[in-house]
Amino acid sequence: MTAHRAGVGNRLLAALPAADLGLLTPYFQKVSFEPDAVLVRSGEELDPVYFPHSGAIAFMLDMPDGQTVATTLMGREGALASFSVLGPSPSSVTAIARVAGTASLISAAKFRAAFAQSAAIRHVVQVHARAVLLQLQHVAACNALHRVDGRMARWLLQLHDRVPDDMLPVTQEALAQLLGVRRTTVTLTMSKLREVGAVPSDRRGFVEIDRARLEKAACHCYALMQRTIDQMYCEELAASPPAPGEQKMPAWSGAADRAFPR
Ligand SMILES: [Zn+2]
Repeated sequence: MTAHRAGVGNRLLAALPAADLGLLTPYFQKVSFEPDAVLVRSGEELDPVYFPHSGAIAFMLDMPDGQTVATTLMGREGALASFSVLGPSPSSVTAIARVAGTASLISAAKFRAAFAQSAAIRHVVQVHARAVLLQLQHVAACNALHRVDGRMARWLLQLHDRVPDDMLPVTQEALAQLLGVRRTTVTLTMSKLREVGAVPSDRRGFVEIDRARLEKAACHCYALMQRTIDQMYCEELAASPPAPGEQKMPAWSGAADRAFPR
């Protein structure tokens, strides 16, 4: 049986049967994080594992020339550093909180032990890993093929999915880092989105959005990506984990784990 429990905001934890969740809860530490908090730095070991209950965390690739670009965004559907189950490895991206939130954290060693013991934990990690890969593939395609206004609308929608209202606490500087563009490009793009009514206001670090209009301004990647991931979560997290012997092969590889810290 799986059930959403009061106080468990994280979708992966909420999908675990009580006995499997019980392998983790004695070791959990509840933490809160503020915007701009660095949860994992590039080069640091993937330890501990964070299960966000709220907020949004961006995964940033830092280039040698000082430029950054976001590879993915994670909220309560994810688990930061869950790829540490493949063995100790350094992160090659930096995880930065973009929207304040809370998380349960557990040491990578304790998480690995529970992962080895529980088919249900292995199952949710696999579903999550496939969702992360899908997001990475879409973001790579989007960065190569789509214009900056459509891409900015996509990031704003992804942030909106992780905040309670239409005021997004995000600065132009943070948007420039997410998109890997200059501040002036963000200012120009923001004015385009304002003209079509997708961003009614943008001041003092808050971007107000009109969701319906922003969806029209976004490239197709957002809808496609969210639909596929939502479907994957609804169908597969509700399903029982495969019986022993029927275990699906993980969708990730060691190489993917070295490249991305989940
Ligand atoms: Zn796109």
